[in-house]
Amino acid sequence: MRKIAVVGAGPAGCITAYGLVQAGYEVTLYSDRTPDEWLNKSRPTGSAYLYEDVIDVERSYGMDHWSSSSFRGQGFLLDSLATVGGPRMTVTGRTEFGRRGAGIDQRMRVSRWLSDFEGIGGKLVIGSVDLDWIDKIALANDLTILAAGKAELSKVIEVDPRWSPFSSPQRNLAMAVVKSRSGRHVSEWFGDRLDYVPTKFNQFGDVGEYFWVPYEHKTEGATFALLFEARPGSMIDRFGEAASGADVVAIGSQIVRETAPWETHIADDMVYVDDDPHAWLTGRFTPAVRKAFGVTPSGGRVIPVGDTAISFDPVCGQGGNFANRSAKFLVDVIAARGEQAYDDAWLAQVGQDLWLDHGRTAWEFNNLFLEKLPASATRVLETASTNPAAGDVLFNGFPHTDRVLPILMSEPLSREFADRYSLGATR
Ligand SMILES: Cc1cc2nc3c(=O)[nH]c(=O)nc-3n(C[C@H](O)[C@H](O)[C@H](O)COP(=O)(O)OP(=O)(O)OC[C@H]3O[C@@H](n4cnc5c(N)ncnc54)[C@H](O)[C@@H]3O)c2cc1C
Repeated sequence: MRKIAVVGAGPAGCITAYGLVQAGYEVTLYSDRTPDEWLNKSRPTGSAYLYEDVIDVERSYGMDHWSSSSFRGQGFLLDSLATVGGPRMTVTGRTEFGRRGAGIDQRMRVSRWLSDFEGIGGKLVIGSVDLDWIDKIALANDLTILAAGKAELSKVIEVDPRWSPFSSPQRNLAMAVVKSRSGRHVSEWFGDRLDYVPTKFNQFGDVGEYFWVPYEHKTEGATFALLFEARPGSMIDRFGEAASGADVVAIGSQIVRETAPWETHIADDMVYVDDDPHAWLTGRFTPAVRKAFGVTPSGGRVIPVGDTAISFDPVCGQGGNFANRSAKFLVDVIAARGEQAYDDAWLAQVGQDLWLDHGRTAWEFNNLFLEKLPASATRVLETASTNPAAGDVLFNGFPHTDRVLPILMSEPLSREFADRYSLGATR
């Protein structure tokens, strides 16, 4: 039986490992945390919102134990302003034309997946893998997959300068999980404006973005993950001194009052979740695309998956979705390879196909929203603000970036889109 090592046990590593065990490989999964440490001593990696089409990957491997009963969202409610205090444009739309997505606490998911892993026939090793160790792992296995996210170890695989335009973080990030102070169900927060639970997105051309993402917290259940994306140095870039989740929520509430006065009632009602000192984070990173494979000091080959392959800025929630898709992609191509060698030409082809099938359009779509939008994209947003059917097409582009990126980027296609929906095309 061919031996495969998966180093790093976030979603991408766990899903790859489960898929490969089920495809008949001898898989060792290396995690720097035990299931208990994941559940009780870890920060969430992010707001973790996944679209239904992507949760299908977890369903296909028998890994989805939560989505049918969790708090879910169905689309977007976007308030977009060129500058704080300027005119406001509102856009609504459903993702996946009504299927619902979910942000399920990653700590709960990974903890369970690690606990179950040996029961399905895999081998779990707990420990932080360093360069010497991955060198040995790569030589002892037929294939080694690196799923260490954005951690130091990911540097075993070089950044690909062809696709990585950034030399610094594009946003300073802060996130905290919030619930209602008054005991209302959080789904009511935006219920006066929409008849489904949205990801609520506030976008300011001059200072950055913040959004409430429907989130199933491990103990509180229905909550929102509140995420700030501050342009460095802007007036919402205030989280540098935050030392707790309550600090993030206090600073964040004040930002909401100052920048979105129409949402003061939500700022007043939201409070950091109880009994969880870890449900928050602050930080920054430089988004990057890595090469198809890396070489360890003794010549072992290592291929990336998830954030190690592409680390997206969270602005459009592409990272977790790519983690699932890239994991399934790798399982499928490895299974299709059968007994043939994992030689360098194949590794390079796998990297290129992953980029073309699942990476490039998601990357370009995501990065588009980090900068001033081109006229074609502004036209699409303006059209969607007048017709929810156009909003559905726009926001379905978040899980299906290949369908909407060409329209956002092209003058003629965006004009055709505007004509179609201005003439009254309906849902
Ligand atoms: C603030 C924020 C909000 C986000 N919101 C969303 C969202 O709403 N939707 C979405 O799709 N994406 C979102 N993302 C992105 C998403 O969280 C990531 O893309 C996703 O977690 C990537 O999964 P991964 O398994 O590749 O990496 P990770 O989740 O980072 O997992 C990597 C694992 O490897 C382990 N590891 C690292 N180094 C070692 C080592 N040396 N030895 C052993 N183990 C190691 C780590 O401990 C970790 O468990 C967000 C990201 C951030 C920062």
